[in-house]
Amino acid sequence: MPNRDRILLRGAKLICPFSGLRGETLDILISGKRIAEIGEGIECAEVFALDLSGLYLSPGWLDMHVHLREPGREDEETLASGRLAALSGGFTAVCCMPNTDPPVDCAAVAEEIAARASEGTGADVFCVGAITVGRKGGRMVEMDRMRSSAGRVVAFSDDGCCVQDAGVMRRALEYARRFDGLIIDHCEDHALSSGGQVREGPCSFRLGLRGYPSMAEEVMVARDLLLAEHTGSRIHLAHLSSARSVEMLRAARERGVRVTAEVTPHHLFFTDEDVDGLDPRFKVNPPLGSREDREALRRALADGVIDAVATDHAPHSLEEKEVEFERAPFGMIGLESAFSACCTALLESGSLDVFALVERLTAGPARALGLDPRLYGEGIKKGARADLVAFDPEAERVVDADDFLSFSRNCPFDGMRLKGKVELTVKDGKLFFPPGSRLSGSIGEARMGRGRACGSVADIGCGAPGADADDV
Ligand SMILES: [Zn+2]
Repeated sequence: MPNRDRILLRGAKLICPFSGLRGETLDILISGKRIAEIGEGIECAEVFALDLSGLYLSPGWLDMHVHLREPGREDEETLASGRLAALSGGFTAVCCMPNTDPPVDCAAVAEEIAARASEGTGADVFCVGAITVGRKGGRMVEMDRMRSSAGRVVAFSDDGCCVQDAGVMRRALEYARRFDGLIIDHCEDHALSSGGQVREGPCSFRLGLRGYPSMAEEVMVARDLLLAEHTGSRIHLAHLSSARSVEMLRAARERGVRVTAEVTPHHLFFTDEDVDGLDPRFKVNPPLGSREDREALRRALADGVIDAVATDHAPHSLEEKEVEFERAPFGMIGLESAFSACCTALLESGSLDVFALVERLTAGPARALGLDPRLYGEGIKKGARADLVAFDPEAERVVDADDFLSFSRNCPFDGMRLKGKVELTVKDGKLFFPPGSRLSGSIGEARMGRGRACGSVADIGCGAPGADADDV
């Protein structure tokens, strides 16, 4: 009987931006929660061995922008379901946004989330606290108390809303500067976007819908780059969608402004032309942009001006989302389609190679957040936490939202044939096989079940696969 605590991952091509691995084929021995050894042809008795030849293996990915809906809308997502959906998509850590009910605007709520997110298996959860009380844009939260609480607060944002008052934003940046904190900026001038449904332009005219101009994002990008420059604070621009925003970001970085940025898989993949059918799953904030916007975003991600891919995973219930376009809420889920969307949009077109893509899913967001490597970012090395993902950027899959571990189904990629598959996620030394993984056969399909049942790591977890393999 193999040792239940030791797993040997054989023959994967390793990619690690933290330790500089670029495709070397090596074995990894996991003991308990940590990497015990890395090397060529590791021989080891009494161990559960898994053949990963043909696959890449990288540190588990970090999604710095997700909405997990707990507390308040546990019918749409919970911390537990969101953490499993993350693992299914290859992410071993996520940052959850504060627009819950109640919002994360005090230490107590952050602490409650951190406590609940530490139960059971799933991705690590870091909190993004609100900038203002109730995310109302007025009185500032007690950032200092929140960040020094047990709530694992790593940044501040009123995401979902944008702080409209420039004076409040300036004070927030100045306050955060005192402890070198990070403000994550959802850039939207609400007066300009008000009532907008899709990107203003040919698309909104054709569909006869109220337009949401890219200017609504751009004026806030301009304002907040100036404020960040003036205050010397760190700012991170969330879900950028416009070529003009990218231009300003690029110029600001050249001037030495301490600004980082993210882009979503859907803004890299789709354009406003895809909204043609009035399918509410394509309704998102900021709205999908033009082809020129998409090109600019891809280029900026490729040359590192945009640091991170982040999903903006935004679960919505069927009842609320599957209504006429104008009544539907903004947002789409993304954790379980992100990697395939990126491979198809970026690797196929030659915009990025697989090494750069992995960097934007790992070291890029970690750097933007300024995370302590003990929380995330030890990389693949001896003694590091065994948080890993094995994937095949060439493998094809038909996205089936019914297989998702998220509670919600509002995914515009549903039914699409895409390239790029996550085959295995390792979290704290436990193996997690996403639904449809070609590796799942190696531990016995029968024991794993399919679809949602597959989400239970406990069925599969640490060491158990060894025993299962003997059974089948
Ligand atoms: Zn946002």
